[in-house]
Amino acid sequence: MYADVILPLPLSGLFTYSVSAEMQDKIRRGMRVTVPFGRRKYYTAVVAKVHRQPPGNFTIKEIHSLIDPAPVVTERQLELWEWISFYYLSSQGDVCKAALPSPMMPADLERGYIQKSEEQFRLNPAFDDADISATIQRAPKQQILLDEIMWFLTEHEKDSLSRKEVKELNGYSPVALNSLIKKEILFPFTIEKSRLHRETASNRSPYPLSEEQQKALDAIQHSFSDKQTVLLHGATSSGKTEIYIHLIDQLLKEGKQVLYLLPEIALTTQLTLRLQSVFGDKIGIYHSGIDDQERTEIWQKMLSETPYEIILGVRSSLFLPFRRLGLVIVDEEHETSYKQQDPSPRYHARDTAIMLAHISGVKTLLGSATPSIESYYNAQTGKYGLVTLDERFGKIEAPLIRLQNTKDLRRRKKMKSLLAPVLMEEINTALENGEQAILFRNRRGFAPMIECTACAWTPKCNHCDVTLTYHKKVHSLVCHYCNATYPLPAECPSCHEGELKTLGTGTERLEEEVSQLFPGAIVGRMDSDTTRGKDSFERIIHDFQENRIQILVGTQMISKGLDFENVRVVGIIAADSMLNYPDFRSHERGFQLMIQAAGRAGRRDKQGMVIIQTADPEQPIYRFITRNDYVSFYQSQIAERKLFKYPPFTRLISIVLKHKDEHKVEYGATSFARLLKRSLGNKVLGPNKPVVSRIQQLHIREILLKIDHATSPTQVRELIKSTESRLRENNDFKQILLYYNVDSI
Ligand code: ADP
Ligand code: ZN
Ligand code: ZN
Repeated sequence: MYADVILPLPLSGLFTYSVSAEMQDKIRRGMRVTVPFGRRKYYTAVVAKVHRQPPGNFTIKEIHSLIDPAPVVTERQLELWEWISFYYLSSQGDVCKAALPSPMMPADLERGYIQKSEEQFRLNPAFDDADISATIQRAPKQQILLDEIMWFLTEHEKDSLSRKEVKELNGYSPVALNSLIKKEILFPFTIEKSRLHRETASNRSPYPLSEEQQKALDAIQHSFSDKQTVLLHGATSSGKTEIYIHLIDQLLKEGKQVLYLLPEIALTTQLTLRLQSVFGDKIGIYHSGIDDQERTEIWQKMLSETPYEIILGVRSSLFLPFRRLGLVIVDEEHETSYKQQDPSPRYHARDTAIMLAHISGVKTLLGSATPSIESYYNAQTGKYGLVTLDERFGKIEAPLIRLQNTKDLRRRKKMKSLLAPVLMEEINTALENGEQAILFRNRRGFAPMIECTACAWTPKCNHCDVTLTYHKKVHSLVCHYCNATYPLPAECPSCHEGELKTLGTGTERLEEEVSQLFPGAIVGRMDSDTTRGKDSFERIIHDFQENRIQILVGTQMISKGLDFENVRVVGIIAADSMLNYPDFRSHERGFQLMIQAAGRAGRRDKQGMVIIQTADPEQPIYRFITRNDYVSFYQSQIAERKLFKYPPFTRLISIVLKHKDEHKVEYGATSFARLLKRSLGNKVLGPNKPVVSRIQQLHIREILLKIDHATSPTQVRELIKSTESRLRENNDFKQILLYYNVDSI
C-alpha cells in the first residue's frame, strides 16, 4: 500500500511513500504522518491519498509513523486545498503551510506532537464504546481509570485533561494509564497552557430589527433560496452587522456554525465585543495576533465534539476545520487586504470563502457599503443575489460631502495652511462643541519627497527604484518598500550648492501642522508608524472613542469599518493623489476609500460633514462621491472595464520575475512571454517594467495575462506550468525568482 502526502514545502506535486503492514488499516486521507525527506531529515506531512498503485521505477521510502488516530484535515478542507493550489497556481505544500498552525507540522522528530512524554490526554475519537470495551475487556483497572477520565471530562465539559489531573483520579496507576495510551484509547498531545476557556457571558439578545433591516433580512433569505451568494449593499451604519447577528442567531439555533470573515485584525476588537455581547463564548477568534499554540488549540477544538459555533477571523480562518458549517459572511467584501500578497498561496479570501461555502453546500453573504466592481457585476448579472439597504440606522442623515478646490483657493491666496478655510472652520466648531474631527491623508511620513532647489536632485533608495520619504521624528529618509533608512544629507551630494527642500505632505507633517493650527486640541495620529507596538492601534481607537483625542490624523487605516459617535467633520487631504496612480482600479480604490472615510462622520442626532480637498474637482468621480452615488459610479467603471477588457470581463494572471541581474530577468521574461504568445496571442501583455522596477536589489519584470471567459482555466494553467518547466531547463533561467499572482489586485 502507498500514500501520497503533502509536504509543507514549496515543492509542486505530492510525494509517494510506502505504508507498513501495521499502519495499513489505520492510515487515512487527512491524517498526519512523519516521513523521511532529504538527507537525515524528517517532516510532518498530510496524507492526501492512500492507494495500491506502485509508483515508477524509483526506490520508495516508508512512512516513519502515523501521528493521528483520526484525520485532522477534513475531506472538504483537502478539497479546498486542491482548488486553491490549482486556481492560484501554488503548490499544495504552500497551501498546507498557510492552512495548518505550525506546531501541528513539526519538521523533526524531536519536537511537538511526536514526543512521547506528553502533558495532555484526550479520548481517541476514532474509538466508539464497543471498540473500547472489546479492547479492555479483561483489564478492570484500565476500565476503572477510563470511566473516571470520561466522568471527569463530562463533569468539567472539557475534551482533554492533563497528566496531573489524571494522577489525581482514584483509579490512577501508571500502568493503567500507559496501557490506555498504548492501546490508543487515550491520545496524548502537548498544550503549553490552554487559554481558550475564557468565560464570556452573553448579556443581550439580538436587537429587534427596524422595518428596513427586517425587509433586507427577508430579502437575503429569499434570495438564498436560489442563489449561492448574496451581496448586501448597505450604506455605512445602515445596520448590516445587526442583520448578520440575526442570521447567525438563526443558524446557531439550527445547530450550524458560521464563519465571519473580516479583512483586518484591527477590526476584530470592536466586533468581538459586539458579538460576544450576544453570543458569549460561542465565538472563536482567529487572526495573526493569536499565537501558534493557541491556533493549534482552536484547530483541535474545531475538530472536537464541542467546536466553536462562530469563528470570527481574518483570511486564514477559512482554513479551519468546520464540521457543521451553515453560512459564511464576508464583511467589507471590497477590501483589498482579503488578497494575500506574499507568500504563496496568493489567494483571495473572499473568493476562496465562496468556494469553501460551495464545497460545504452552504451560502455566502457578502457585505459592503462600497462593493467591489466584480461583486456588483456578479449581482447585476444574476450570479449573486442583491439586497440594498440605503438608510443609516435610526434614520440618521448621511453626511454632507463638499469639495474644496485647493488650486483655486491657492490662486486666491486663501490656502493659509494645508487645510481649506471651510475645513478650519468646521474643526473649530467641532472643538467648541466638544465634537471631533478626522483628517485623512493617504501617505505616511513627513514629506514624500526631498529635492535640491538648485539641481533637482532627489534621494533614492540604494536597493530599490524609489524616492525616499522624509520622516521627521527619526530625522531620516526611509524607503517605504524595503524599510532601509538613511541619514538626511547636510548638503546636496550632487551640486553641493542648493538647499534640500521637503515637498508634499504626509501624515506626520499634517499632524504637526494641525497641532500648531489648533494649539488647544489634542491631536492623535494613526498610521503604520504609530501602530507598530502591540495594542497601539486599539489604544488610539479607544482614546478617540473616549474623547481623549479630538483630532485624529491618519492613513486609510482610519477609514475602515470603525464606529465613532461624535465626529462632526472628516477632511480628506490631497484627494487626487488617491486617483492618479497608473492602475485600472485606482478610481475604484479612491471611491471606496473616500466613501468609507466619509462614513466615519456623523453623530447620534446630527448630520456629519465631509470636506474633500482637490485640485481637480471637475473629475467625474467627485460627482459620484458627493452624491454618494455608487450605482452611477459602478456604471462608469464597468463601461471602461468592458472597453479595455479588464475584470470582470477577463481574469488576470500576473507572472512576476525577479533577478539581481537586469539582463537575465529581461531575457527570462521576454522568453517566457514569447512562448506564451504562441498559444495565447494578444492575451499576453508585456513583459513590462513595473512602476517600481527594482526592490531589495532585485530587478522586476511582469507579464500580464488577460484571460477571457471562453478560455479554459485548466488549459491556461497547464500551458503556464509547462512553459515554465521548459524554460527552467535553461541554465540562465534557473536562478530567476518567479511567481504567479492570479486575480492580482
Ligand atoms: P453597519 O454594519 O451597516 O455599519 P451597524 O450594524 O454597525 O451598521 O449599525 C450602526 C449602529 O446602529 C450601531 O451602533 C448599531 O449598534 C446600531 N443598530 C443597528 N441596528 C440596530 C437595531 N436594530 N437596534 C438598535 N441598534 C441598532
Ligand atoms: Zn543640488
Ligand atoms: Zn528600498
